[in-house]
Amino acid sequence: MGMNPAPTIEQQELLDLHLQLVLEENQRSNLTRITDWEQGQLLHIEDSLLGLPELLSAPAGRYGDLGTGGGFPGLPLAIMSGRQTVLVDSVAKKTQALDRIIEQLGLQDQVHTFTGRAEELALDQPESFAVLTARALSSLPSLLELAAPLLQLGGQFICYKAQVDDAELAQAAQLEEKLGMKLVSTRSETLSDGTTPRSIFVLEKVAEPTVKLPRRPGMAQKRPYKA
Ligand code: SAH
Repeated sequence: MGMNPAPTIEQQELLDLHLQLVLEENQRSNLTRITDWEQGQLLHIEDSLLGLPELLSAPAGRYGDLGTGGGFPGLPLAIMSGRQTVLVDSVAKKTQALDRIIEQLGLQDQVHTFTGRAEELALDQPESFAVLTARALSSLPSLLELAAPLLQLGGQFICYKAQVDDAELAQAAQLEEKLGMKLVSTRSETLSDGTTPRSIFVLEKVAEPTVKLPRRPGMAQKRPYKA
């Protein structure tokens, strides 16, 4: 893992256009705090594509990006993988901006948005995803709880983390049995600026959770399980 297929010219154009449109939309609604093209290339496109090898080796089927914001990492991964994709965010202004962007990219047959919380999507479409991602959404224990009811058995959850916190990892490990999720791989990389560390964790749904999920909206993030 770690080797990414290079984008085709067409894929590179779509990746660039996504970033350009996000930076433009940013003038109206706050999709990202990154406002500069070079920073956007690094911290949005390159960072988003870090999990591409994991996405490509996940089971075939529908892909969802939880707490997608401006579509990161979901839209770059959709562009590179061709998977049926759902970009999930609870803030309607963000998913509406993404709907406009998806249309301008011509990806409306492949990429859709869901306006609502991951917990609401889990009630609406339980166990309907083969693979999920999340970047900058929440702590690992909360993330595992949000992902578990959405994934089919054998489905995988690819978590993007800026820094690895041992206590957070230990907490998540203690919840594996309750949530039916098991850590299957960890990879650490530095982005091409040479100074930005990143980790990619892959968790697989190996069993049904022993608790009823989703809990009430907000609970997973406000009061994460403590094992
Ligand atoms: N993944 C993007 C955005 C991170 S900010 C990036 O890395 O650039 C976190 C986003 O998650 C926000 O847009 C927020 O509206 C959304 N969010 C927070 N909790 C959520 C939940 N439970 N379900 C869906 N979206 C959520």
